[in-house]
Amino acid sequence: MTVVLDRNVEEFIATPRQLFINGQWADAASGKTFETPNPATGETLARVAEGDKEDIDRAVRAARRAFEEGPWSRMTPSERGRVVWKIGDLILEHVDELAQLESLDNGKPFAVAQAADVPLSADLFHYMAGWATKIEGNTIDISVPYMPGANFHSYTLREPIGVVGQIIPWNFPLLMAAWKLGPALAAGCTVVLKPAEQTPLSALRLAELIAEAGVPEGVVNVVPGFGETAGAALAGHMDVDKVAFTGSTEVGKLIVAAAGASNLKKLTLELGGKSPNIVFEDAMEGAVEGAANAIFFNHGQCCVAGSRLFVHQTRFDEVVGGVSEIAKSIKLGSGLEAGTQMGPLVSEEQFQRVSGYLESGQAEGATAVVGGGRFGDRGFFIEPTVLVNTHGNMKVVKEEIFGPVVVAAPFSDLDDIAAQANDTEYGLGAGIWTKDIGKAHALAKKIRAGTVWINCYNVFDAALPFGGYKQSGWGREMGHEVLNNYTEVKAVTTQL
Ligand code: ADP
Repeated sequence: MTVVLDRNVEEFIATPRQLFINGQWADAASGKTFETPNPATGETLARVAEGDKEDIDRAVRAARRAFEEGPWSRMTPSERGRVVWKIGDLILEHVDELAQLESLDNGKPFAVAQAADVPLSADLFHYMAGWATKIEGNTIDISVPYMPGANFHSYTLREPIGVVGQIIPWNFPLLMAAWKLGPALAAGCTVVLKPAEQTPLSALRLAELIAEAGVPEGVVNVVPGFGETAGAALAGHMDVDKVAFTGSTEVGKLIVAAAGASNLKKLTLELGGKSPNIVFEDAMEGAVEGAANAIFFNHGQCCVAGSRLFVHQTRFDEVVGGVSEIAKSIKLGSGLEAGTQMGPLVSEEQFQRVSGYLESGQAEGATAVVGGGRFGDRGFFIEPTVLVNTHGNMKVVKEEIFGPVVVAAPFSDLDDIAAQANDTEYGLGAGIWTKDIGKAHALAKKIRAGTVWINCYNVFDAALPFGGYKQSGWGREMGHEVLNNYTEVKAVTTQL
């Protein structure tokens, strides 16, 4: 049985989609469009206007006007918070529709998008709505030793940073839009959002809901297009105050260079990962399922995927065997087919990339306990794969694969496991499975990563800050931490 498409979804994909600039739908200045394919079949799903430099410029001008002139800038925090809350409500009113769009465009199972991506997106807006009224400065008692006897009144103001460029990836298209837009709007910023070229649809539908929620024109602009053109134009724009980026470390470095070569705009970066997932000899049974979920959730297309599995040598065969059994049982298929547990990878390019890693791993001597190649002969499906007999210098061990491929290695030395876990240029996440809570917390302290999960994995919440150490990024998203990235602090001092 296949999910029956909502009428709104059918209409949405049947009509060429335009750019959303200053509250209006518009073609690209060049008139160009691009196609977004259905990754389950490789066929065209929808046509979308292809934004470029000129469109980004138009969108930035609209965002600047909306930031400087209002009505957005004149709204009270309470009014702003209510509008942001309403976005969350509207998302919840359209869960199935948004989940279908996400499944069609990205390939992920409808049931997963319906249970996770869409409700989490709504929750993010609801969480951030509350912060709109709680962004505060401090009063500070100052000493000024070179002005003896003088009295002062000093305080800080926390002000919105201004016009924000947001460049997001394709693995959780709606959720990444929410992670970025929620805090920007709560803080009072205005935004130009560029969705990934592989998955522009849900952000365009979200733009409609954002307008319906009462966000004034120009506050949120959505410009789909390619990274090297539209994305680069946003990163290098002279009138963008900040860029928030999620994507590969390679492109993150290009964004840093573009900011440096233009106006030194502020940056936050959420980049790649090669996260260790560590199973101790005393781990409970759930560790096997947990390790499988850590890598196979979202087809391994998670920056925080538990892609390096370390298992204590006394349980290596059992845990790797268990994860491999789960891998074998995963039902692959189109995201809209009932019962599908894993869909295709997002694109042909990603399919080729992951296939290349599988070949290189096996050529370097790794063995696939399960999987190791393509699934079927249509669409971009890769078999869930567990690789063993690996060593630290293999590409599959060092580099982010971004597919359903885990490398498993035994460990014996408890003192050494932190060093092994940290032996990566990344530092996004880590998992620890043990009943010994002292050992778990001691290791959690030693791991250089922005998130550590103990006896669980892939637990996300709007209230929990998320981001990376080392080359996994700069800054944190979600939680109240994220608001620091969307505000500037101004110190004001009066002599009394
Ligand atoms: P992936 O390699 O997994 O597709 P990317 O890091 O290339 O991930 O893409 C993440 C986002 O960055 C996408 O929206 C993409 O269009 C954008 N992007 C890619 N290249 C650039 C660039 N040079 N400048 C700005 N944005 C870019």
